[in-house]
Amino acid sequence: MSLSYSDLLKRLKNNQTITPKAKAARLELPKPDVIWVGRKTFFRNFMYFSRIIRREPNHLLMFLAKELATAASLDGERAIFIGRKEKQSFSVLIDRYMKYFVNCAICGSSDTHLEKSRRLRFLVCEVCGARSSVRSK
Ligand SMILES: [Zn+2]
Repeated sequence: MSLSYSDLLKRLKNNQTITPKAKAARLELPKPDVIWVGRKTFFRNFMYFSRIIRREPNHLLMFLAKELATAASLDGERAIFIGRKEKQSFSVLIDRYMKYFVNCAICGSSDTHLEKSRRLRFLVCEVCGARSSVRSK
């Protein structure tokens, strides 16, 4: 490996700025980027949310569609909802989704995944190991 002197300096600097973070830190979610086009609502950074919270896009999409009482579809990075939906409601609903399907009820970590067993879904925490059942759709 050949590193230039300035690369080495950069490296040193970077190492110094790394501070140990609590593993249970909450995810920093961006703001939903929501616009209205005609009679539709476009959630433009939908897939970004899906990736950051590590949940199936369709699971999140169906949750939002149900809560907004409308039909929704995926289109590349964005999700499209029928009707003009209140922009603020997306933040509220994503918070709710996080509470139901992402955040560990015990330690609050978002480092979790869903597990299916028979007809139940469990939220399994990768930090504290807690398993809790989640409500079905
Ligand atoms: Zn936990």
